[in-house]
Amino acid sequence: MRILIVEDERRSREFLAKGLQEAGYVVDVADDGEEGLQATRENDFDLIVLDVMLPVRDGWHVLEQLRTRGCETPVLFLTARDSVPDRVRGLELGADDYLVKPFAWTEFLARVRTLLRRSPVRTAEIIKIGDLELDLPRMKARRGRQPIDLTAKEFQLLSLLARRRGEVLSRTTICEQVWDMNFSTDSNAVDVAMGRLRRKVDEPFENKLIHTQRGLGYILEDRAQS
Ligand code: CA
Repeated sequence: MRILIVEDERRSREFLAKGLQEAGYVVDVADDGEEGLQATRENDFDLIVLDVMLPVRDGWHVLEQLRTRGCETPVLFLTARDSVPDRVRGLELGADDYLVKPFAWTEFLARVRTLLRRSPVRTAEIIKIGDLELDLPRMKARRGRQPIDLTAKEFQLLSLLARRRGEVLSRTTICEQVWDMNFSTDSNAVDVAMGRLRRKVDEPFENKLIHTQRGLGYILEDRAQS
């Protein structure tokens, strides 16, 4: 899950970005409206957190541009004042939710999760591959009846492989989707993370689901079926 934060106040932006990263999301940031729009042209996001008062182009403009372009990504609007005309205008322009500053972190995270659940880009909430079952909204994984205890990052890694099952994912793709774009060119980090994931997801079970495609990357599929 990839989230864009468009917010010009540095401390607030860093606070939200750090919190969302710790919750297991991939986060991009932009500090003005123009940069925000540019980011949406370069990447697909599952959610955009958009401050209303922004330099260069304000949040209203950004939202209008996005919707005019046919971009359906959910938008959580952040505003400094709770006024009815602002709220109405935001909703008319196609904002999906609205949060008035200052807000509690827990409330912010709850709104983010709700919007991501509603996200139109989401195809399935539960993915099943062999006896592996991933509950995306609850971030839970199990094999058969056995729950698998994963960190937020491990869950993200597994859900990326699961959403694109049967497809070889390169280390670069995995890096981009699960960590930051410019995380590292050191593909060893992906191998280490994948090793940890396999110890939890595959090692205790007879039917291995995660496979290495030498020189290319990783693939998740149920080969016992074919
Ligand atoms: Ca602002």
